[in-house]
Amino acid sequence: MDTMIRNGKLVIPRLGIMEAELAIKDGKIAAILDRGAACPAASTIDASGKYIFPGCIDPHVHWGCYQDMGADTRLESAAAAIGGYTTVLQYRRTPGPDFDPQYVQQLLDVITPNSYIDYGLQLFITKQDHKNSVKRAVEEMGVSSFKFFTTERNIDVDIRGLRDSGIPEPYTDGFMYESMLELAKYDGKVVANFHPENIELVETIAPQVKASGKQGLAAWDCVRPEMAEAEAITRLAYFAGKTGCPLYCVHISCGEAADKIAKAKKENPRIWGETTPHYLVLNTESPCGELGKVNPPLREKRNNDLLWAALRDGTLDTVGSDNCACLRSDKDGSIWEAACGFHGTGTMLPVLLSEGYHKGKISLERIAEVTSYNVAKIFHMPQKGRLLPGTDADLVLVDLEKEKVVNAADLKSYSDFSVFEGWNLKGWPVMTMVRGNIVAKDGEIVGRPDGRYLKRNAFLNR
Ligand SMILES: [Zn+2]
Repeated sequence: MDTMIRNGKLVIPRLGIMEAELAIKDGKIAAILDRGAACPAASTIDASGKYIFPGCIDPHVHWGCYQDMGADTRLESAAAAIGGYTTVLQYRRTPGPDFDPQYVQQLLDVITPNSYIDYGLQLFITKQDHKNSVKRAVEEMGVSSFKFFTTERNIDVDIRGLRDSGIPEPYTDGFMYESMLELAKYDGKVVANFHPENIELVETIAPQVKASGKQGLAAWDCVRPEMAEAEAITRLAYFAGKTGCPLYCVHISCGEAADKIAKAKKENPRIWGETTPHYLVLNTESPCGELGKVNPPLREKRNNDLLWAALRDGTLDTVGSDNCACLRSDKDGSIWEAACGFHGTGTMLPVLLSEGYHKGKISLERIAEVTSYNVAKIFHMPQKGRLLPGTDADLVLVDLEKEKVVNAADLKSYSDFSVFEGWNLKGWPVMTMVRGNIVAKDGEIVGRPDGRYLKRNAFLNR
């Protein structure tokens, strides 16, 4: 064997926690052996007192939003690796009229040499031409999930970057319905990822809230109310049922939206919901203030526990970060001027361990499912998320007793702030391995940027 990890406790999704030795060869998990079993190896890692999770997979990152893609990849992938993440699914707009393979190749040429972890692409469908070239993206580029915003028009076009990319096709119900019909041609294997908010409601309500003089996170919550999110989910779930297109709703922020997911799931098993750490533990009263401006907004406090319950009971399937690393200066001004989004991947696992596991809200097995196994399953990455022989040796060793106060500089992101700044979190990753190589250890990068692009279309050959 190349490496033996001895004396740890394996957190194996769907199986439970197992005291066993883990053997790695050629970047794969080669065997899981009884405690103390003899097995010669070139190197041995003593994981006494540590829990070994499958490497976390962030299904929702935006690298290259606030600085160029190469530089942002270098920093955000490092922050992700230090935080226990071994794979991300990256959302990306394509500037051309359709999904141009040359553009995608250029993108991979920039990301791959800079990424410390593996990654897949999720492309935005924003134009008729995109809809018409889905086949090319799936079959030639290995993209098996596509993003829709539902909100990209008029007032939302002022969000940074959108005006430049142009929104030639408004996100009408007809456009979304027809796009879902197109994705449905792949027999339930190609997923539509939706940012669900009813923009018509937002456009009507926003001027009224602004005129009222309200400020702060509570104002932003009023501008984009819970009902706008809940209504969009109901409508999209209806289209998913009619078209047969799998539906993945990103960043569920409130109890009412989670209820709509639960209801839809009863009729259709191919509907999934994602939440984020910020909706689980932050709210309109949080001291982060305008730094926490994001869409959908941080909600009233009562939603935090409703979302933990939905994550625990299977209504919500995954946790993503919506990582969009910006600087504190991008957040200057009132809630009306501050930029949206913030860095998130680096604090995801500690937040789930500290505020979830240690406070009795979620089990370690469920954390492994929502941060890894379910993401791999929904998004077609059979070699990831399982911690079983034959799969990639993507691992994170966790010290559940380690306590540390969040300090943005320690996260190694491009961002110079964290919405969790000053939080004392208990439970931190102490080592991250990507395909058997140690990439991060004790909060520092120790490996090389050796990430690989994951083609997620193996189902085409079956
Ligand atoms: Zn996002």
